[in-house]
Amino acid sequence: MTIEENKLRDKIIANRRITPDEAKKLFAWDLIELGKLADLRRKRVFPEERVGFIIDRIINFTNICEAACHFCAFHAKANLIEPYELSRDDIIRKVEALIAAGGTQVMLQGGLHPDHTLDTYMDLVHTVKDAFPHVYLHSFSPAELVHIARKSGKSLDVVVSTLRDAGLDSVPGASDLLVDRIRARVSPRKLTTAEWCAVMDALHRHNMKSSATMTYGMGETLGERIDHLRVIRDTQDRTGILRAFIPWSFSPSMTAMEDIVPATGIEYLKIVAVARIFLDNVTYIQAGWLTEGLKLAQIALTMGANDMGGVLMEEVVVKATGIETQTNMTELIDIISNARKLPVQRDSDYRVIRSF
Ligand code: SF4
Repeated sequence: MTIEENKLRDKIIANRRITPDEAKKLFAWDLIELGKLADLRRKRVFPEERVGFIIDRIINFTNICEAACHFCAFHAKANLIEPYELSRDDIIRKVEALIAAGGTQVMLQGGLHPDHTLDTYMDLVHTVKDAFPHVYLHSFSPAELVHIARKSGKSLDVVVSTLRDAGLDSVPGASDLLVDRIRARVSPRKLTTAEWCAVMDALHRHNMKSSATMTYGMGETLGERIDHLRVIRDTQDRTGILRAFIPWSFSPSMTAMEDIVPATGIEYLKIVAVARIFLDNVTYIQAGWLTEGLKLAQIALTMGANDMGGVLMEEVVVKATGIETQTNMTELIDIISNARKLPVQRDSDYRVIRSF
């Protein structure tokens, strides 16, 4: 190690905040060294050796979407899945099946439908909450909230407070890559970085929690990956509403960006480790079994990740790219135990429901 690298290592061990430049340098480090430091930092924010998962269900209520992002194989204009809209009865049946399986959380997510307004979303919230008041509704996305605010001629504050009062519990952060140069290329009709931040600030003003994701491997530079992490860290400093950070690699297959070479497993593990060290204000980092596979996700649990996310009954958005990874509670318990961690089923607020 060089003198400079030793200094950075000491800074990480001393639990001091690292700069974006320092984070960028970490990508050149040996994976095992980086993983050990990330695990050390994980212990500082989360000393317990337990790993949680949640039994949840994603209900993609429509794939009709004005945005038609190039990285998405799910929206109807990609011509892989016929345009559809679920009825109230469809949604109720899916929630019933979740509850029968011991599930606790519903993620309603849709495309940016040209006719959807705040009223449509109120209906969706009522459909679930009137029938199942105890189900936790972690639903929609910043892009959907900006979209319906625009369609309804309402402010984000009105949209967020109205949905919260109707029963929406929290909103997944679905942040893709918060780099406008890349967004202009791959999702020009979705939302900008500033709009994503504005949604987070509105959620904060109305006491609602969120999360942040990262989809990398879409032609961005290493510096731009750090730019994304910096937006997340600043947002968390400002609001404190991010319960978790969830990185995953872009799956180019079946999308309009099929010529992109997928990111490697080592890149994934380095992203997890660097995120754990850089995002010193985020408690949970999820291991992305859905896109990276269960075995790589298991290794991530030793390099900074401390949650397995959801069982995700009926995921279809990633499946549209040809990825068929599925799991169940028994498998997640095995994966977590084999990583020498205590498996726990958790709720949406990361409280333990039961241990195994
Ligand atoms: S990623 Fe979301 S906003 Fe973009 S096309 Fe797919 S469904 Fe629409």
